[in-house]
Amino acid sequence: MRIVLLGCPGAGKGTQSKILAERYGLEHVATGDLFRAEIAAKSPLGLKVENYLKSGTLVPDATVVDLVASKLDGLTRGFLLDGFPRTLEQAQSLDKYLSKNKAGIDLVLYLNMNEKEVMRRLTSRRSCPKCGELYNVISRPPQAEGKCDKCGADLVQRPDDSETTVKKRLMVYDDLTRPLVAYYRSQSDFHEVDGAQPVETVTEQLTSIVDSNRGAAR
Ligand code: AMP
Repeated sequence: MRIVLLGCPGAGKGTQSKILAERYGLEHVATGDLFRAEIAAKSPLGLKVENYLKSGTLVPDATVVDLVASKLDGLTRGFLLDGFPRTLEQAQSLDKYLSKNKAGIDLVLYLNMNEKEVMRRLTSRRSCPKCGELYNVISRPPQAEGKCDKCGADLVQRPDDSETTVKKRLMVYDDLTRPLVAYYRSQSDFHEVDGAQPVETVTEQLTSIVDSNRGAAR
């Protein structure tokens, strides 16, 4: 199964992708996480993309497409793309890449959420720098304040989750990524889910869509 998970920053893509990838044995390709790992490792790619992430703007298409292709090359199981594609050019490059291998996207899942809720969620988001677990001080607080439930490390706020950078990221989303909703709605097996619902409800709805898609493919 090849799945694209679409949605604005803060709509819950990271949380839901991790759950779905584990449940269905899919490779989870999250471009934002990959870039953050490169930045932390101070690799040449990390140094190249650092300022884009800091300012909430998009990394150039060619760089992202190369990175994703390197993750998909030779992959023998299905995958779930989280945070990619983010522009029409990236979506078209992905289509070309897959059609070379006589494949395509099976399912596009769109997590929809209004801007006010996104702002509230993103500025209250926290993550564990050690194991990657995600929290939210309002909707999913850790058991002990500021500490990861899984590994006990001190939780951090992503530098690009400050109010100013979130505003910038939402503008970028509206301009460059939102057009992908129409693109995929018109040509793919496209499903929209309300991302503002409780995490468990969103998961239930997403898994029921994936299950019926798998059933239909059999
Ligand atoms: P995310 O964790 O998905 O919110 O991504 C964090 C940041 O990584 C974004 O604000 C961009 O700077 C960069 N990024 C992640 N995915 C992409 C992509 N597909 N295209 C361009 N930039 C990206």
